[in-house]
Parts: sequence; C-alpha cells; structure tokens
Amino acid sequence: MLWPVTGRRHLAAEQAQRLADVRQKNPESETWLALVEAALAESQDATTWDPAVPAPVDGRPARAPLLHGAEVGVNRRSATRFVRRLSRLAGLDGGGATHLDALELLEAAIRQDDARIDALAAGDPSTLRVVAQVAVVPLLRACARTIASEVSAAWWEGYCPLCGAWPTLAEFRGLERKRWLRCGRCGIGWEMPWLRCPFCAETSHENLGYLAPEDGETTRKVEVCDTCKGYVKAEPTVSELPWWGVLLDDVATVALDVAALDRGYHRPERPGFDLEVKVVEA
Ligand SMILES: [Zn+2]
Ligand SMILES: [Zn+2]
Repeated sequence: MLWPVTGRRHLAAEQAQRLADVRQKNPESETWLALVEAALAESQDATTWDPAVPAPVDGRPARAPLLHGAEVGVNRRSATRFVRRLSRLAGLDGGGATHLDALELLEAAIRQDDARIDALAAGDPSTLRVVAQVAVVPLLRACARTIASEVSAAWWEGYCPLCGAWPTLAEFRGLERKRWLRCGRCGIGWEMPWLRCPFCAETSHENLGYLAPEDGETTRKVEVCDTCKGYVKAEPTVSELPWWGVLLDDVATVALDVAALDRGYHRPERPGFDLEVKVVEA
C-alpha cells in the first residue's frame, strides 16, 4: 500500500489509515487535519525534538505540571522549518509567517498565551492560534516520551500534569471502565474518578451529567458540569488510545462539541494552569 508522504517522512500504516478514515468523514476539517498530519510526521523526528526536553525543575509547587519553570532549548532551524510548513498548510503565505519567530511562537503556545500569539500574527490571529496549537505537538510529544514517567500517580488536578492543558477528552478504558483524561497536546493520560469535573472539581452528581448525541450513536457522549458550564467529550476504549488517536478522535467528534455549545456549555477560556516555560535557542 502507498503511505501518504509528509515531508520526508511516512506515517505508520495504522496512523495513515485512521487519518484517511477521519478525513473522509470530516471533509470540513481538512485544513486542521493537514496540520495534524504534519505534526504526526514531525513527531517521529526524535533527533530534533528529544534533545530539547528539559529536566523537571525541583521544588515545583505540588499543583504545577512537570514543565513548570523549565527552560526548553530548541533547534531554531528545525523549529522555523516546521512552523513555516504549518503556516503554509494553514494558508498564512505572505501573511508575515516568514518573519515569525518560531521559538517565540512555541513559547507562547506552550504557555497557552493567546494574547501573545495574537500579537505575533501579521494576518488573521485565529489561524495563527491554530498553527501554534499544532506547532507544539512534536516538542510536547518528545517531553511525554522522555519525562512523562515522572508524573505523580497522585495527580489530582483536571489539567495535564505535564503541559497544563485542559483534557481534550475522557476515556473510559477497558472492562473496568476507569476514567482517564487525555491531553490533546502532549498526549499523556491521567486517571480521574468518575463524577468529578476536571475544570471546577465539582463532585455533586446533581450538578454533573451527560449529553448523548441524537444520531443514535450511544458510545460517545459529553460530560457536562452545571456548576461551571464546562464540558469534555468522553468515549469508551478497549485499551489505551494512542496519543495520536486523541488528536484524531477530537476531530471525529466535532458533532459533540456542537451539541455541547448549542446547550450553553463551553470549554474554559483560561488555561488550567499558568505555566511558566522559556523556549530558548539550543
Ligand atoms: Zn499535556
Ligand atoms: Zn465544573
């Protein structure tokens, strides 16, 4: 079989197949999927991104993700090449993307500092936000590969213990249906009990509920919280979803986002944690 070529790299057959499937069913998400495809391919380049991974800083506050306080040394040429590639795919040609400081964009993106990303945009800031979101994936994946084992088993927060992002989805895993929250940036997962809102820590069942899609699909649903009006998409899985499966399933379940937004639920505007990270030239 022919594998899609992305730059010089090929996707693994399983990734390519799942990507093709999601593409076919979600033609409206083509631009986003093209960016995700580039990020999947780039994430295979361990020689560029693994050396950037910092050691977690000792003495972090207990509620701080692993990357808090870290300094990340990134190869400027590789980062610039990747950010330019994403910018082209997103249609930012001629919009000043060639003058964009890739390291500054990566730093703003890891910190989820939208105001700073907007300030870097020469054209449409919303497109640059999308580019920024995908641009950090290879770097954060390298961090997940290298230091995720240092995540505390006692982690109890709703945001990612590595990068501080809110969970992209909740996974009900295996026969035991244990609830794992999954990060759509670094891809790691952390276990959290049922009936606990990741955003505001509400635990009263009277304020927590589900939305089920109307089109007859019963396996996927949306967890909602009436205390903070937050929502997170949820799906059952046989075994741990691969990290890239989190990214692709997020696209495959856009209908659930629409259903939640229609009913007045939303994703928090503020990041889960105000992460302090510096990105410097290696
Ligand atoms: Zn993360
Ligand atoms: Zn809540």
